[in-house]
Amino acid sequence: MWRDTCVLYHLSKSYDFTDQRIICALVTADLVGNIVHTKASISGTEIDCQGEVDVACAMAAAAANQLFGGSPTQIEYAAEIALEHHMGMTCDPMCGLVQIPCIERNAYAVARALDSNIYSTFSSYGYHRVSFDKVVETMKETGKDIPSLYKETSQGKLAKDYGQMI
Ligand code: SF4
Repeated sequence: MWRDTCVLYHLSKSYDFTDQRIICALVTADLVGNIVHTKASISGTEIDCQGEVDVACAMAAAAANQLFGGSPTQIEYAAEIALEHHMGMTCDPMCGLVQIPCIERNAYAVARALDSNIYSTFSSYGYHRVSFDKVVETMKETGKDIPSLYKETSQGKLAKDYGQMI
């Protein structure tokens, strides 16, 4: 997903990380995305925006944490924080176009990914109560519970006042 690539691009330009380390972080991000893809979904149509922006944020958070030297537990925690705190986010693209709220929402998620990395880094060795796997499972259930009104139909939230899908 391009959102985690944005975070890695930013980090590669702002810090002195080697290409090798950036590639390793990209692999970690990929792993996180694949876990969600396999166990839940990364489709806005299926489980809402939580499956798109949310997952990308978790991928970026894990990658950033690895780059800054996080342990496996801290990496998992960074991904978990990012995923948990976007859970339930619905899809409401205005006029059916992936512009509003998508562009701003993705930019915010980039900032949240970096925050998740910091929070995990300063936690006590990544100790946390809720596992990444548990959040993935719950996210899938939450996605099923959300009405189709909020699944890329542009019929709910602000989208309903700014035109229907075209
Ligand atoms: S709100 Fe935008 S970014 Fe989020 S799932 Fe819908 S189309 Fe994708």
